[in-house]
Formats: sequence, structure tokens, C-alpha cells
Amino acid sequence: MTVDIFLLESNIDFELMYTYRVPDDIAEEINPGVFVDVSFGKYNSKRIGVVWSVDHLPTPSGAKKNGYTLKDIIGINRDYFPLTATQMRLCEKIKKRYLCVTGDAIHYFMSPKLKSAKIVRTVGLAVSSEEAYELFNSNILRNIGQIKIIGILLENGDTPVTSLVRDYGASDSSIRTLCKYGYVKIYDAEADSSDNSLSCEIARFPELSLNSEQEIAFAKIRSLLVSGTFGELLLHGVTGSGKTEVYLHSISEVIKKGGRAIMLVPEISLTPQMVKRFYGRFGNCVAVLHSRLTEKQRYDEWMRIKRGEVYVVIGARSAVFAPFDKVDLFIIDEEQEPSYKAEDEAVRYRASEIAVMRAEEYGSVVIYGSATPRIETFYRAKSGEIEYAVMKNRAKNNSLPDTRIIDMRENTDKTVSEIFSPVLKDELEKNYMRGEQSVLFVQRRGFSKQLLCRDCGKVIRCRKCNITMTYHSKNNRLICHYCGNTAVAPEICPSCGTGHFDTKGFGTERVEQELKRLFPGCHTVRMDTDTTSGRDAHEKLISEFVDGKADFLVGTQMIAKGHDFPNVTLVGVVSADSLINMQEFGSSERAFQLMAQVAGRAGRAEKPGRAYIQAYNVDDYTIQCAAEQDYEKFYENEILIREALCYPPFYHIGFINFSSQDDRGAYEFGVALQKIAEDILTENSIDDIELLKPARRPIQKVNGWYRWRIVFKCKSLENMLNLADKLRYNISVLKKKTKADIRTNIDIL
Ligand code: ADP
Ligand code: ZN
Repeated sequence: MTVDIFLLESNIDFELMYTYRVPDDIAEEINPGVFVDVSFGKYNSKRIGVVWSVDHLPTPSGAKKNGYTLKDIIGINRDYFPLTATQMRLCEKIKKRYLCVTGDAIHYFMSPKLKSAKIVRTVGLAVSSEEAYELFNSNILRNIGQIKIIGILLENGDTPVTSLVRDYGASDSSIRTLCKYGYVKIYDAEADSSDNSLSCEIARFPELSLNSEQEIAFAKIRSLLVSGTFGELLLHGVTGSGKTEVYLHSISEVIKKGGRAIMLVPEISLTPQMVKRFYGRFGNCVAVLHSRLTEKQRYDEWMRIKRGEVYVVIGARSAVFAPFDKVDLFIIDEEQEPSYKAEDEAVRYRASEIAVMRAEEYGSVVIYGSATPRIETFYRAKSGEIEYAVMKNRAKNNSLPDTRIIDMRENTDKTVSEIFSPVLKDELEKNYMRGEQSVLFVQRRGFSKQLLCRDCGKVIRCRKCNITMTYHSKNNRLICHYCGNTAVAPEICPSCGTGHFDTKGFGTERVEQELKRLFPGCHTVRMDTDTTSGRDAHEKLISEFVDGKADFLVGTQMIAKGHDFPNVTLVGVVSADSLINMQEFGSSERAFQLMAQVAGRAGRAEKPGRAYIQAYNVDDYTIQCAAEQDYEKFYENEILIREALCYPPFYHIGFINFSSQDDRGAYEFGVALQKIAEDILTENSIDDIELLKPARRPIQKVNGWYRWRIVFKCKSLENMLNLADKLRYNISVLKKKTKADIRTNIDIL
């Protein structure tokens, strides 16, 4: 008996299968999907593989195949549950769709491995908490780092040294000094020995009776569920329309029939409140999966799902792989969120596509929920390809905020504030005086610069790609990050013929400073990637604001979604221009979604809200539609551009990304690769794929690696995947030939 296996880890870019002989004593247990240990290669290194197919032909020990002596399997690896037939089929589909090797796909279905309990250096208070409080509030300690550690221990209890250092930025020397003074003790603890169970005290969340819009949406979902065949539905409901309540009803319906449901939410909105709402409705038959779980918690949750003890999984992106044998309903809440697309993983999957692959296997239902759906999803709903339900009113009947655009071109008097227009400044002041809270939204930093005309508000775009061109001050040139076209930066704006450009921008920190300058003594909370890096830092900042401890919240996109701020009555988008002028084809869509979401933060409770969008480019349809909260109008505009310029949903767009520390080497690699790709197109007489020149990526350098890409487009996904698949082999050959160290990946949308 022999088996063909795939290795879990391989160091080549393309797929190979290996044949092994099965020793008689384990033959009975060997089936497709079983994990096995094998010795691999010249040096017999120990590897893990998965049996993919079995050949029952009797094979003597030492038999040969293709001139090689077959090695015996070492044994069955029992750390992992065997893959089911469905999971194996899904691996095949994933491999095809995302151009990964099978081993990469398998990882997503494997049980988390529980490492044997390890010893962890831990810090705890050596004095009573009363003494510690006194220490914290007095002047005994002079070193702020030491005071902070005492504070953390008071708040969180004993904490591993690694966590103090990594999550809270404490220094080793501060910890040692505190230990020397006898304030803290350092000891060895067994990891995960503490009580980690997730179940919490459950406050019942009674079912609400649905209003008429919800009832109609729910009826459509129910009829899909009873049909027993694969179906998709877009639930398009304005923020606060009660989509969550419809999800909960749908899940109840599934559970009543003994079925299973997976609900995906963006990581950031997977808050304790959200989880409590689910526990409150469904009790202990809920499992939660997200990145903040400890290893032990993740293992326990995974096992509860595998054993069939739970009916509902709620989790972030990767929860779409949760190991139910069958799933009746997938819900993807806020389906437009970019976090549903994996970017830095071996498999660059989109969670909704995995949900569809699984749902097709089981004949089950996928719901996409959003106030501002992806253009692609709405297009499919409009064309009748998927079902559609709409909810236009807020469930509690409070109105959407009143939104206004402020024309920054008229803001010529910068003496009051360089950042806020007089109108927004006055509104902020009023709110501050009244003790109501305000939110200010600032585009995330790190995006490259563009030329924005201070007179007409236009930016310079590539004529061919409609992509904002990036300004490079070093050589005073503009570059398109799709097709690579470049031009010398003009002195005078070509749109209005008179205006001048400004490349200045500002981040969250600058806005926070400005608030403090204008309103001395005000309290601000700032949320961006700098202030939220520690574990739970995000949660803490949010609750600080919700508890009313601050007047202003300044933040990047992370504040747009997922939280109810009852006392917020004013929202300001500080600079909409920087939002609409990003450098991908979906920038307008993302900008619209963000502005609509941020504006929706105002007036969630009884007090009405208002929103102000500051912009130079006031005629831009994205900004206008966002201010009017008019999704359909935005869609009608955007879809025309997508069609004219051959972008999704009309065309698929693919990126061959490559990077190197050697800029020149990366470029030359790109040129050679493009030549190879073109030859493949010619040889196979493929004429429907458009292939662009190598171009720098919008973020052109990360950690010393220069990032380049080749963009290609086609109507047929099949043809694109075929080309990319052929290219993979060539890429690995070309990499070996190139002197520079090159990293590559392919992403097809
Ligand atoms: P969405 O998910 O669409 O943003 P939610 O489901 O969070 O909206 O609902 C918004 C608010 O309206 C919540 O406070 C919720 O409790 C309330 N709500 C939803 N549906 C109903 C209903 N049928 N009757 C009364 N209140 C409702
Ligand atoms: Zn271009």
C-alpha cells in the first residue's frame, strides 16, 4: 500500500506531491485526510504531511518508483484531527483560487496545537494593594516607568514579564529595580494555568419583535433557508436599522432546526458588548473566535465547535473556517470592511469567498450585511444574481445626522486655525461648552503625497487609470502606481490654470494639539496605530471616551465602526480630500463608506447629531453623496467609472507583487517577468488579458524593501488564474537567476 501526500511546510513556490509506502501495522488507519509523520529528502528531516490519496496495491518494503526507493511513513500524527472529505475539496478550491500550495490551505482547517504547559516568568505585587495604591499616588517612586508598572499590576493582576515589556512598553530595568525595592516579586508560573474560561455571567437579551422592514428581510432569509439550496442575500440597511436583530432571528431559526451558523464581524467590532448580546440570546451554545484569545482559550473554543457542542460561532475573518461538519447559515456583517481580505497571509483569501465555497458544498445560505455594501455586491444584487433586502429606516426612529460640506477654498483666513474652518471651530466650541462630545476623523498617516490645488481643489490623476498620481519631491515628478506613467510636476494647476499646490497634510497628533490650543483644559482621546498597539488598549480608550472622561475623540478609520457613542452629537471629517485621493481603484468607494460611517457616529441616542465634512474638492461626487447619505446615487456614479476603466465588477484585476532591498534589482526582475508573461500570452494566443508595465506600489518602501507590482486585468477570472498559474513556475526560476533577493506574491481580485 502506498499514499500520495502533501507536506504541510515546503520551501518551494509550486506544488509537489510525494509518494510513501505504508507499513502494514498502520495500514488500517490510513485514509485520505490523515496527518502523518514522514522523513523527507536527502537528510531525512522529519516533516508532517497529509494523505491525499491511497493506492491499495501491495507494495513490498524497499520497492521503487521512478527509480527512487520508496520510504516508509514513520507513523500517524495524532496532534491533529484528520481532514474531512469536504475540507479536502475546499483545500483544492482554495489552492486554485488563491494560487497557494495545498499545505498553506490545510493550515486553516487544522486544530490549534496546544503546546504543553510552559513556564512563564511573571511579575506580581509584593505589597498589599492598599500599599500599592499609595505607592502609585505618592511621590515615593520617581521613575514614571516604575509607576506605570505598579498601575498595570493593580489593574490587571499578575502579568508575564514578556507582556509587560511587549504590550505595555515596560523596561526590564524598571521591573528589576521595583523587585530590588521589594515592591514586586518575580516568579515562575505555569502558562495558562489560570482560569481562562470564556463563559461570563449571562444577562438575558430578550428577542425583540421585528418591525415591518425587518419582517420583510427576515421572510426572504427564511425562504432561502427552507429551500435547502445554496443562496446569497444582501441585507442593505442604514446604520441603526436593526440588521443585528435580523441576524439574531435568522440564527434562532437555524438553531431551532438543529443547524449551525457562523457570523463574521470585523475584528474591531468584536467587542465584549457584542459578544454579550450573543451569549444573552443564545446562552452557552455560542463560541467566540478572535485574535485576543489566549492559546488555551482558542483551543477550547475550537474543540467545542469540533465536538458539536455549540451552534453559533461568532468571530473575525478566520472564523469562516470554523470546523463545523455542516454550516446552514453564514452571516458577514459590515461586508465592505477591508479586514475580511487577508493581505499578509500565505493564502490571500476573502472571507466571503470562502463562505460561498463552503455554502455551495452544503447547499446553505450566505448573508452580506451593510449600510454601504461593496460595489461588487450591490452590482450582483441589482442584476438579480443574489437576493436583496433593504431597510431604509432606523429602528428607533431617530433620524440620521444632518451633514454639511464645508468648502475649505473659502477658508483663506488661517489666523483662527490652520486645520478647522470657522464653522467647524464654532461648532466644536459650542459642543465643548455644552458638555457634549465630538468626534474628529483624520485620514491615517503614511500615505504618500499628492498635489492638491488650493484654489480649485483638484488633484492630478493618471489619464489612463484615473488613479491619483503620487508626488515625489526628490525628483519633482508625479507617478501613477498602476501603469507606471510619470510626468514632471507642474508649477500651476492644469485644471484651473491659476492655482498652486500644497503637499502638506496633518495627522491625528497635530489635530489633537490644535484642539488643546483652541480649548485650553479640554480632555482628548487619540486613537491611531500608535496609541492602540498594546493588548486591550483599544478597548480602554473607547471606554474612557464612552464613560464621558473626554470631550473630543480624534482618530483614524478605527473609530469609524463598531461602537455606540451615545453622547456624541458632532462629527467632523477634517480633510475629505486625503480620503478620496488614495491610490487604488476602490479609493472612492472606501472614502464614501468611511464618511458615511463616521457621520453615522453622531446622534445615536436621543439628541440629534450633525456632521461636517471639510474639503477643497467640494464638487467630487464621493463627498457630495456622502454628505447626502445617498448610497444609490454614489453607486450610479461609481459603476460608470468602473465600467469605463475596466475595473471590478466588470473586470477582474490582478497584482503580481514583488519586492527587494535592491531597488534596481526589483525593477529588472519586473521587466524580465513582464516579458515572460507577454510571451506566455502570445504562445497561448490569449488576447483578452491586459498587462501593464512594472510600477511602484502606493506604499513604495517598507522596512527597506522596495515594493513593485505588475497590474493585469481581464473579464475572465479563469484566464487570469491560468496565466498566473503558469507564471508561478517561471517566477521561481527567475528568482533563482536574479542576483537580488526577491519576494513575490500574486493577488487576483
Ligand atoms: P444595525 O446593526 O443595523 O446598525 P442594530 O441591530 O444595532 O442596528 O439596532 C439599532 C438599535 O435599534 C439597537 O439599539 C436595537 O436594540 C434597536 N432595535 C433593533 N430592532 C428593533 C426592533 N424591532 N424594535 C425595537 N428596537 C429595535
Ligand atoms: Zn496610469
